[in-house]
Amino acid sequence: MRVTAIGERPVALHGSPANAVVNFAQHTVSLVALVSDVVRDGKPVAGVAFDSIGRFAQSGILRDRMIPRVLSAAPDALLDRSGRIDPAAVLACALADEKPGGHGDRAAAAAALELACWDLNAKLDDEPAYATIARRFGRRPARAVAVYAAGGYYHPGLGLAELRDEMRGYLDQGYAAVKMKIGGAALADDLARIEAVIDVVGAEHVAVDANGRFDRSAATQWATALAPYGLRWYEEPGDPLDFDLNREVTGCYDGAVATGENLFSAPDVTNLLRYGGMRPGRDVFQMDAGLSYGLGEYARMLDVIETHGFDRRFAFPHGGHLINLHIAAALGLGGCESYPGVFQPFGGYPDGCAVTEGRISPTDASGFGLEQKSGLAELVAELITELTA
Ligand SMILES: [Mg+2]
Repeated sequence: MRVTAIGERPVALHGSPANAVVNFAQHTVSLVALVSDVVRDGKPVAGVAFDSIGRFAQSGILRDRMIPRVLSAAPDALLDRSGRIDPAAVLACALADEKPGGHGDRAAAAAALELACWDLNAKLDDEPAYATIARRFGRRPARAVAVYAAGGYYHPGLGLAELRDEMRGYLDQGYAAVKMKIGGAALADDLARIEAVIDVVGAEHVAVDANGRFDRSAATQWATALAPYGLRWYEEPGDPLDFDLNREVTGCYDGAVATGENLFSAPDVTNLLRYGGMRPGRDVFQMDAGLSYGLGEYARMLDVIETHGFDRRFAFPHGGHLINLHIAAALGLGGCESYPGVFQPFGGYPDGCAVTEGRISPTDASGFGLEQKSGLAELVAELITELTA
């Protein structure tokens, strides 16, 4: 098998929700397709993926550096012993002549490419990606994944009544747990928002996310204010790389703390565990394969947390989309995020994936099933047509 073409297209996200730090109005995502010379039903089989959500499209890094490196490699150098595309070999090729460390946007660019390899292999085996991934890592896939609705963003002009309506809507759709943003308003106003959501959903099913907004004193002050509610978790209180700040929060807050979506490598996660005060059986890990070099690096991160005495059932990847749903099902994670109302066309799941009692099952479509999601399917088809014309 050979890779005949690789292409990337930046796709704008619909809508413009905001958290405490970021407005998503200008955000984009890199959609990547990797076309093989295997033909089924008169069409070449192509692997498709994207770089999760929240770090913009990585068009330049992909088009100028990574894609040319992979396309110029000897075809056999990209295959494993069974003749399938080897995601690790493709990643190594994409990262030729890149220094270690630093990571940043490069990690998301590489992830889109690596994940497209998993989609391609699953399609060639005519099975859903969770089956391919579970087999590769020696696991039995879960039939359904616990999901929570990530919402509660700041929308100009909308108040507490609309926030309650939004949360009620998630319960009506079958979700049992939700997450909401904090830190974008004054403490008293945010506490009123939290109380409104608790009133609808119940405190133990409500997580709050500060998106790294707080300095050390605000992070601990907020911890004190949040503690009496008994929330599900308190997410990214401060800068994601300030492990000492995280340690200070876990030291003064009995509830769970969640972090990791802005850690892009196994060494970063190792440092979180060495210095961040994470507590086994309580705190939550949110690393996202689509932002951190793909599934291979994500699996190494899971090894790191397990080596340090943590349980992968406390891993809930950031990024509420199909790719992470398959990864969570395949690797036995605690669950994953869902974006039922935001970040289209990537957020959420196809119509065939209904939420039942807070859980979603991937469909049996081959690969990640991105071709089943309306709004996304059309973009995938266009990109592949462009590459095979
Ligand atoms: Mg978050």
